[in-house]
Amino acid sequence: MTVRQPHPAATAFAARRHGLLIDGRTQPALGGETLEVFDPARGRLIAVVPRGRRLDIDLAVQAARTSFEDERWRGLPADGRGRVLWRFAELVDAHAEELADLDILNNGMTEELAGWIVAAGASWLRAYAGLTTRILGKNASAAISGGGLDIHAYTAAEPIGVAGLILPWNAPIGSFLNKVGPALAAGCSCVVKPAENTPLTALRLGELALEAGVPPGVVNVVPGFGDAGQALVDHPDVDKISFTGSTAVGKHIVRSASDNLKRVTLELGGKSACIVFDDADLDVAIPTAADAIFKNTGQNCLAGSRLFVQEGSIDAVVSGLADIARGIRIGSGFDPAAQMGPIISEKQLARVMDYVAAGQAEGAELVAGGRRREGDGYFAEPTIFRNAGANSRIYREEVFGPVLVVTPFSDTGEVIKAANDSRYGLGGGVFTCDLNKAHRVAARLRTGNVWVNTYGLLHSAMPFGGIKESGWGSEMGQEGMEAFLQTKSVFVHLRA
Ligand code: NAP
Ligand code: MG
Repeated sequence: MTVRQPHPAATAFAARRHGLLIDGRTQPALGGETLEVFDPARGRLIAVVPRGRRLDIDLAVQAARTSFEDERWRGLPADGRGRVLWRFAELVDAHAEELADLDILNNGMTEELAGWIVAAGASWLRAYAGLTTRILGKNASAAISGGGLDIHAYTAAEPIGVAGLILPWNAPIGSFLNKVGPALAAGCSCVVKPAENTPLTALRLGELALEAGVPPGVVNVVPGFGDAGQALVDHPDVDKISFTGSTAVGKHIVRSASDNLKRVTLELGGKSACIVFDDADLDVAIPTAADAIFKNTGQNCLAGSRLFVQEGSIDAVVSGLADIARGIRIGSGFDPAAQMGPIISEKQLARVMDYVAAGQAEGAELVAGGRRREGDGYFAEPTIFRNAGANSRIYREEVFGPVLVVTPFSDTGEVIKAANDSRYGLGGGVFTCDLNKAHRVAARLRTGNVWVNTYGLLHSAMPFGGIKESGWGSEMGQEGMEAFLQTKSVFVHLRA
């Protein structure tokens, strides 16, 4: 295995003495505590960052609140905010290798995926730069006064205020830019709480935002554990929480946020179904279904972790998938030939292996994989089960690892029912060459996103979000920015 060295700037950044980023300054945590950051491909310590607690969150929220109230950011002309966001995107592009390598180091993802996320993240920022001048209201004067026009009435879209942005570890750069971009476009100030496992790129992106011209105090970054996230959720001066992570924590956030009814956007888990009909092009369906589950080592909210295959194609699809799974090169993201990286942590790997054991104990047939790789790092094999019981844990629960469950079906009605029989509703994949069937099935899937003859495409022009227990609201697209805006209605009585 030829493993290349990380970009020197990434290595240097990881080794730096880190601080919390509050009010444009780097500072230690008030309690002096730290948290250790690991490279999951080698299981080695790569950085130590301060651990923010409630008092640090208080300081960060205060900085964000002050910057919001004095209008140093929201008060800029929209085009001015757009220019800064565009510069931020250019800085992300200019530091693409450093940023990608920091996430390979810290998250373990492949070079290809890390490169895609950085480039996509920069393009999302540019899209939000353009949206700053598309924050529009409506004029209802004619509806109210008719021809008389004695009432001038309009709506104004205003930034919600201080946003608490709580990030997961599975796509650190993507989730940072996907939340900070629209929050800034809307004119909000924010406090970012990255995942305990992956704080590095958030700290670096916070610096780049400052360098781009985002005023101090507008983007604050406080690494910490769940208690720091909880402090943001509880804080009376935080107006909005945007959270990506587990459904369990998402529900907890909703309960906590009910105290002051702050706005909440939730991007949670999934158990998404891909459906392969007999009339599908299997040369497309098989590699796409494999990618849907194994990309990012299955640590993907939209992972296609349930695969339904029509009876006439099941053997061909299962054997094609098993060949792909057995051929996948597992390794460090710094091995350019690696196709699947490690699991984020020892703890998460243990969780995935526990699901694999449960699958076998519950009687599912193991078709490929099923083992962890011995040696350094937290690697699991791409794993495929067939015929898992409809009530078994691997069939129903989100594994968040490279574990696929394949189930046969006979007709369209049956498979729609089975696909929709989940507490989640994030993604759905449909593979067919029949245009009518494609649209009809897409319409009947109870999910926030559907892909036909492809899977997992994301674009700044399209909103992304889940229904049922996959979450509330959308990210990306115009909707992604509207999640950080609120509406004010203004009535003006005009004198005759
Ligand atoms: P998680 O616990 O939901 O973490 C997500 C974020 O929320 C992290 O920053 C986390 O901090 C923070 N957090 C934890 N408890 C909190 C609380 N009470 N209030 C506010 N914030 C809190 O998820 P995880 O531990 O990273 O992963 C566990 C499972 O979640 C995975 O196995 C997977 O099923 C799911 N997951 C889903 C997604 C997705 O994109 N939908 C992403 C990641 C994980 P810490 O990092 O310190 O825990
Ligand atoms: Mg957690």
